[in-house]
Amino acid sequence: MSRSEYSERTESATNHNWHSRPLEDVYDELGSSERGLDAADASERLEREGPNAIEGTEGISPLRILVEQYTSALIWVLIVAAIVMAAVGHTIDAAVIAGIVVFITLFGFVQDYRAEQSIQALKEMSTTYAIVRRDGEKTELDATKLVPGDVIFVESGDIVPADARIVSESNLSVDEAALTGESVGVSKAVGEVDPETSLAERDNMLYKDTVVERGSGTAVVVETGSESEIGQIATALEEAEDRDTPFQSEMDRLGKIIAGVVVAAVAVIGIAELVVGETEPLQVFLTAVGIAVSAVPEGLPAVVTLSLALGARRMADQNALVRRLPIVEALGSVDVICTDKTGTLTEEEMTVQQIATGGDVYEVTGTGYDTDGEFRSDGESVDEAHVAEVLRCGMLCNNVDIGTREREEGGDGGASGGDDGDGDDERTYLGDPTEIALFVAAQKAGFDHRELAAEYPRLGEVEFTSARKRMTTVHETPDGDTVAYMKGAPETVLERCDRELVDGEIVDLTDERRTEIERRNETFAEDALRVMGFAYRPDVPDAQAESPDDGVEREMVFLGLQGMLDPPRPEVSGALAGCLDAGINVVMITGDNAVTARAVGEEIGLRSTRVITGPELEEMDDDELREVVDDVDIFARTSPDHKTRILQMLQAKGHTVAMTGDGVNDAPAVKNADVGVAMGIRGTDVTEQASDIVLLDDNFATIRDAVRGGRRIFDNVRKFVNYLLSGNGGEVTMVFTGSMAGLGLVITPIQILWINVVTDGIPALSMGVDPPADDIMERDPRPPDEGVITDRIFTSIVGIALFMTVCLLPLFTLNYFGELIPGYDVTGAAVGWSPGYEPSRELAQTMVFTGFVVFEIVRIQAIRFRYGLGIFSNRWLVLAVGVAVALQLLVLYTPTGQLLFDVEPLGLVHWAQIAAAAFVFAVLMAVFVKVQDRYFDRY
Ligand code: ADP
Ligand code: MG
Repeated sequence: MSRSEYSERTESATNHNWHSRPLEDVYDELGSSERGLDAADASERLEREGPNAIEGTEGISPLRILVEQYTSALIWVLIVAAIVMAAVGHTIDAAVIAGIVVFITLFGFVQDYRAEQSIQALKEMSTTYAIVRRDGEKTELDATKLVPGDVIFVESGDIVPADARIVSESNLSVDEAALTGESVGVSKAVGEVDPETSLAERDNMLYKDTVVERGSGTAVVVETGSESEIGQIATALEEAEDRDTPFQSEMDRLGKIIAGVVVAAVAVIGIAELVVGETEPLQVFLTAVGIAVSAVPEGLPAVVTLSLALGARRMADQNALVRRLPIVEALGSVDVICTDKTGTLTEEEMTVQQIATGGDVYEVTGTGYDTDGEFRSDGESVDEAHVAEVLRCGMLCNNVDIGTREREEGGDGGASGGDDGDGDDERTYLGDPTEIALFVAAQKAGFDHRELAAEYPRLGEVEFTSARKRMTTVHETPDGDTVAYMKGAPETVLERCDRELVDGEIVDLTDERRTEIERRNETFAEDALRVMGFAYRPDVPDAQAESPDDGVEREMVFLGLQGMLDPPRPEVSGALAGCLDAGINVVMITGDNAVTARAVGEEIGLRSTRVITGPELEEMDDDELREVVDDVDIFARTSPDHKTRILQMLQAKGHTVAMTGDGVNDAPAVKNADVGVAMGIRGTDVTEQASDIVLLDDNFATIRDAVRGGRRIFDNVRKFVNYLLSGNGGEVTMVFTGSMAGLGLVITPIQILWINVVTDGIPALSMGVDPPADDIMERDPRPPDEGVITDRIFTSIVGIALFMTVCLLPLFTLNYFGELIPGYDVTGAAVGWSPGYEPSRELAQTMVFTGFVVFEIVRIQAIRFRYGLGIFSNRWLVLAVGVAVALQLLVLYTPTGQLLFDVEPLGLVHWAQIAAAAFVFAVLMAVFVKVQDRYFDRY
């Protein structure tokens, strides 16, 4: 877009008065019509207007990531150290420290940058879709592709994708808190309002990022992206605040403890040295720096972030999109999964198999959404006329449409957001799977939805909600009468019927027939069929015709039942068994009836098939519910607020709960769950916003995979925290002991930095992608209050630090004094110094330095061994260890390395000493593990 065009547009945006002009004017100005735009026109407009996205949501800039690397105190300690070194003439040391500072910041930058990219990629995957009319047909597409002039459809649970002028609506009410801060539903209407009307009162407009609370509507897009009202005030829909997880606070605490250790150690050494007064101040300074750098796990923050981000990336590849990174931690603690039945435990594709009407039962043939099929009675094919009225009701009282969709359902990755999706869109059913099943059944009888809609134009709708469990539409008949069609859970439908249609005649609905219908409902349900009831009302009073409410749902004529098969997904029973093995109970919470729920529960192998229904739940007080909540695995005929109650009770009993949801009213339960899970395909935008994880394939098995992924990431974090901290502990203890024993610096600060950043840092990083332990789904969930550093790990850190010191000190004294213990000629003579290897401080420091590197390689394998991981189970780690060894050899055996790190090249005899010490170290560790096993749990 050229500059002049742009400014013209921004300027006029505020003067368009989209709200106060006749609709035709608005259409004219936008060059659009009720029919919407052509695809070609739309893509031209997209070029011109840019995507429908608000700028400034692209994440953190690389420059900022780089600058952030310099916010850590450690970096500044190092920079000061380098300056001091340079000032006192130690130019080489100053240069090396400066080099390592650059390396640390680059290392941190690369990792943070990669993490940020992964997080951005995840964000891009959570695409919002909009339903829009293009080329005269409903199409579902990525909301960022909307342009002014597009005709869009919204319904409850949607987030309004752009600013738009309302063309038609039914019961439409919108929560505009995102824009006005007022969280009350605003009723919308068609028409014009005064030009002066304030934003909050323009009831004929929809604004981007507000939430449709109730009803549905059609509107024409007037402004997109940054031109929208919300874009102009540049506050995108506020994402719920990330909770500060125990993990983050633990890392904070850890930082403080380390700082405390550093200060204490430096103080003790400083005072001791000053009192003794032998050491020159520079030496004291160097020791202090040595302690500081050895205590701080320089590599840790970057490694943690990156492993979380990469882990989340991998989970997304398995269809579990993590919306908040820290949730990964809670995943490992989940011990109850509350899941929907329909669509999550069962397949998306439902098929009507049985129809009961007028006292007879008919079978329907055909599978899935295939429209081939016929109607049979006792195995004999019968005429559609027998079932026509029930099917007509099912198609009229129905919001399904045929159109195209650009998103890919389920399958691999669901990462279709990136494709342009043009061209190969297939025509599919758009809408609720239950309604699609009814739609398809009607097609089998030869009904065509367009013809039917033209014959019986819809006047209004009383919406379906999970609490009401039924919906009604009002239509004009070809004879000019007004009729209402209702469908819903059989009991809620029967409740409103007083007559019945039998063989084309309206008769009274006797109590006898009522019981018969209820029994029929049960027999359908026992076969795990999902049953819906149908009814109509032949003469609706005029007062109810236009904007009907549930008052219209009276004096209805019962039409029949349709039973649809909703088979469990094949992978569900395996996934369920896996969850039970992993100490995670699975609870089904469904709006469907108790009998169907139990039949499905039995089929997939729930732990218990005891059922509590919504009405029963309402009868119970909290104490009664507390008694039974652990033993009941099926809640049927529930409303969304029951979910919240069950959730709260489970949480009160100390469970960590993952809760799935799809509808608008599920959002509170999803939000309050420890892990809120939204459905990527079936779910509403609002529930997605409230969730921590989105299942891109709506599949229960994916929750199990996500839990496994979460446990794996947590294990890996725990492994490298253990690894890095025990290494740091060893360094601090060693430097401290050496200094206290009057040995001076047993290893130089530069060497410690090298270990922490390079030879420890690189392998630790690759441990972030370690495969899961074999028993990862066999152990119980981690107690939620158990942090990364358990008591066992704490003793490991202390124990390993001591063992390292015990094994490394002899290497130092032997090569410093030529003796194991100064003053006692124990082995010095026996070993016999080979020529050229005179004992010296440089040699002794080199031994400690290289000893640490070798010990850490032993250590990393020992840690992984406890998780059942062999040396070669992670090729990145093999590579990382190879690189670490190669770099260490370069330091030892190249003149530059020797100059920079102040080391002596080691001979065979030295390597033999290191090997011996490493062997003793390994034995000590093995014994220690046995001791720990007696006092602690496995991890
Ligand atoms: P679920 O889908 O798990 O059964 P819902 O709360 O979505 O739970 O639905 C509750 C009940 O309402 C369903 O069991 C069904 O009987 C009925 N129902 C579901 N969808 C519709 C719909 N589109 N129109 C009318 N009734 C419906
Ligand atoms: Mg449902």
